[in-house]
Amino acid sequence: MSDRVFNFSAGPSVMPESVLKKAGSEILNYGGSGMSVMEMSHRSAAFTDIFNNVKATFKSLMNVPDSHEVLFLQGGATAQFASIPMNLMKSGSADYAVTGHFSKKAAVEAEKYGSVHIACDTSAENHSVIPAQSALSLTDISDYFYYCANNTIYGTQWQYVPSSAAPLVCDMSSEILSKPVDVEKYGLIYAGVQKNMAPAGLTVVIIDKSLAGHEMPITPEIFSYKEMISKDSMLNTPPCWCIYMLGLTCDWVREMGGLSAMEELSIERSRLIYDVLDESRFYTAHAQADSRSRMNVTFRTPSDALDAEFVKGAAALGLVNLKGHKKTGGLRASLYNAMPIEGAVKLSEYMKKFEVEHV
Ligand SMILES: *Cc1c(COP(=O)(O)O)cnc(C)c1O
Repeated sequence: MSDRVFNFSAGPSVMPESVLKKAGSEILNYGGSGMSVMEMSHRSAAFTDIFNNVKATFKSLMNVPDSHEVLFLQGGATAQFASIPMNLMKSGSADYAVTGHFSKKAAVEAEKYGSVHIACDTSAENHSVIPAQSALSLTDISDYFYYCANNTIYGTQWQYVPSSAAPLVCDMSSEILSKPVDVEKYGLIYAGVQKNMAPAGLTVVIIDKSLAGHEMPITPEIFSYKEMISKDSMLNTPPCWCIYMLGLTCDWVREMGGLSAMEELSIERSRLIYDVLDESRFYTAHAQADSRSRMNVTFRTPSDALDAEFVKGAAALGLVNLKGHKKTGGLRASLYNAMPIEGAVKLSEYMKKFEVEHV
């Protein structure tokens, strides 16, 4: 395994090595069944067992109360941009915080289904900042307040849970399982799994059951939370392999000490990189200090040419996928749960060395 790299990709992204090994060891014959999980009927006893265990482990890690249901859906986080308004906009309006690319896309999609009120829009700051609660403009007719907890592309993260009279709806795709969450405060939480949990193809939704059942008549059955709750996510064939992989990741998180342990590690990892940025006159951080993400660190060198050289030099050392998103340019280091501390140490050392050699 010494030929593995440190993969700083924003998504799909690094998985824990022990999870990949476990999946590898079971790939031909899962639990004496004589077949791979990939080959199993989703109605089989073996898969039903996997499904129930994954759901139970995820619920216990996230401390999901009985008022909420956990759903395993498809269509990525992007399908939720449509599902959320179709199911939750029962009186026809919602407040959206636009703090980056994905919340903007969610707001634009929701406009197809009702009236969207923009509670804040940080595009003038190139999404380098998360607004304070006092800067949010919330209406009193809104069916829900929507925000994206961690802005994967811009590298900003909400440092507080916003409060709103309407139910909170949150895209946690790029921070879920990185810290404890008070699920009770939320009407709906969702996350595409390919950032911090499992291979792409599965979206986890945690929904307050009392919010389901008010969907618009046009809502496709497959997008109906009520239908999915009543069928325990098995309205059609679920992404069995992704669910199994999510289970392995949840077991790993639990063995590592749960979400508080994940939070400590994410503080340590991100601090290693932010310390270099703070001490440097060479690198510029994109996010404002009070809005920094622990998951995606965005920064740049003094020029595009040096950014490119940085990426190339890093790759030669086995530090890969550090190029920033095309929307921001520059550099981005994604530091998800599965990134070993050693990867962040190696990156911070490389950053310091690169600076000395290029100032
Ligand atoms: C990646 C990402 C998305 C889009 O996810 P898809 O699964 O590709 O639809 C949405 N929101 C956030 C915060 C993301 O990081």
